[in-house]
Amino acid sequence: MSDTDLGQLSHRPQEHSVPRFAGISTFARLPHTRSLKGVDVAIFGAPFDGGTSFRPGARFGPQAIRQASRLLRAYNYALNVRPFDDLSVIDYGDLQVVPSDIEDTYTLLESEAGVLYANDLFPIAMGGDHSVILPLLRACAAKHGPVSLVQFDAHIDTWENLFGKRYNHSTSIKRAIEEGLIDPRRSIQVGIRATQPFPDDLDRTRGLGLTIVTTEELFARGIPDVTAEILRLVGPKVYLTFDIDFVDPAFAPGTGTPEVGGPGSREVLALLRGLKMLPLVGADVVEVAPAYDQSEITAMLAANVILEIVSLLAWQRRHPPR
Ligand code: MN
Ligand code: MN
Repeated sequence: MSDTDLGQLSHRPQEHSVPRFAGISTFARLPHTRSLKGVDVAIFGAPFDGGTSFRPGARFGPQAIRQASRLLRAYNYALNVRPFDDLSVIDYGDLQVVPSDIEDTYTLLESEAGVLYANDLFPIAMGGDHSVILPLLRACAAKHGPVSLVQFDAHIDTWENLFGKRYNHSTSIKRAIEEGLIDPRRSIQVGIRATQPFPDDLDRTRGLGLTIVTTEELFARGIPDVTAEILRLVGPKVYLTFDIDFVDPAFAPGTGTPEVGGPGSREVLALLRGLKMLPLVGADVVEVAPAYDQSEITAMLAANVILEIVSLLAWQRRHPPR
């Protein structure tokens, strides 16, 4: 595609004719449809927070992210792409959940996400708490086999159980490894910094095969060094999970399990833009709980994380491997 194509106005009819604050919220004012014909990327909500251990409310995340995404514009200068025009992107709406039952919700999410993977498109989920990743990874692995996980998170999410229960947002990565959905030796957790119940929690997690980059290491080494490690480590298929509590609560207060001393929103953009070569097959942004947000800053950041993920895909479309 030539650079002159970048000069065209957006193909989205709303882009210049309807004020950004008007109309019903869809992600980035994209069309809401369940028709998957010709679609490259489907953004959808997974509004379930029954796996939350502390503050509830991430079930309201998808709608808050949609509302906060109204100001996302067509052109991302950092990667020289028009993410929502270079690719056909839709807001698929919310997947079905059962508010009181995590296992029934898992069945529904896996089955509906499976339809998206079966149609050879790229799904991006808006959580929901981090428990929703397990059925999404089940659907992903059914299509792609065990994938590499790149997890931005303040938490390891590898506990054996919580209050005796196996399925919740603190155990989902452990379950994903046990179920063979991800290849832990080619997966990495970045931003880990939460206090742990036991001194050996990080070593135990490394013992599962996962690479851990703590927040302290991230800042000591610098972002380019860490993005280079991510790109070296991963296999040919990568699922990116972005837990918004990766970010400092000064920038992302609207979340269920905030942890102080994290990266800011500027670091988030630099990290994601450093992953242009990441061979992505699926992604999610989880743990946005708008009841604790201020001035929509958390939801706006989550919306921009999704924009950057679609921008990576658009960049890859413009720069196919030779
Ligand atoms: Mn998490
Ligand atoms: Mn977390």
